[in-house]
Amino acid sequence: MAKVIAIANQKGGVGKTTTAINLGAALAELGKTVLLVDIDPQGNATSGVGIEKSTIQHDVYEVLIDEAPIAPAIRHTERQGLDIVPATLQLAGAEVELTTQIARETRLKNGLAAVQNQYDYCLIDCPPSLGQLAINGFTASDRILIPVQSEYYALEGLGQLLQTIDLVRKHFNPDLAILGVLMTMFDGRTNLAAQVVSEVQQHFSDKVFKTIIPRATRLAEAPSYGESIIDYDSSSRGAAAYRDLAKEVVARYGN
Ligand code: ADP
Ligand code: MG
Repeated sequence: MAKVIAIANQKGGVGKTTTAINLGAALAELGKTVLLVDIDPQGNATSGVGIEKSTIQHDVYEVLIDEAPIAPAIRHTERQGLDIVPATLQLAGAEVELTTQIARETRLKNGLAAVQNQYDYCLIDCPPSLGQLAINGFTASDRILIPVQSEYYALEGLGQLLQTIDLVRKHFNPDLAILGVLMTMFDGRTNLAAQVVSEVQQHFSDKVFKTIIPRATRLAEAPSYGESIIDYDSSSRGAAAYRDLAKEVVARYGN
């Protein structure tokens, strides 16, 4: 059974998609089979692993709204072991459409059930909101990875996220737990970044991953080439950081 991890924070621009792609690629490099699931209508994970929008025939929208099987939507990427269920802009409508549907919270979970035996890890790239799409992500997951940007107001909004996780745990998914909090875009030249990291560590103690993702231009460049950092610049600091994170994730699960 795949270990299913939602990568979530309702703030935009904190490194969710960057983490989904690069953690996925780093896990694949370790020999794990990984399914990325893009549930952000912006589809940044989809384009970031090199899937051209015009070539997408089936996407995650059909799984959520039409309850279509997920297998036809799965695409291989150039990175061996890393597959993706793509998102297109039509997913933007799903947030509203789901609110009128029966058993709406379990659509993604039901869809994933059919392919969970084929993967070691499933990483769900959540949208920057706490609506029906995110709730589907949380209901389908056994752990949540929360990227937090190493800047002022890092902790702002996390209370709301934790409340939503609690609600999902109570109503749909009793075993849901936080896998870890990941500090992203860390700029080692500023005192502020170090202060923020220590503040988040005080708050979340050992839930914070030891791996800290540096702010690195190469990480921002890679998606425009449709490649993870592992493929775009294998010897970069960003690649090293996501490799460390992959090892930490595997260790936290215990295999
Ligand atoms: P989210 O999915 O949370 O909205 P993204 O992963 O898309 O966030 O990141 C937001 C922007 O910051 C993107 O342009 C991305 O390329 C860039 N970015 C993310 N992580 C880093 C990093 N560690 N260093 C530099 N740029 C980064
Ligand atoms: Mg994103």
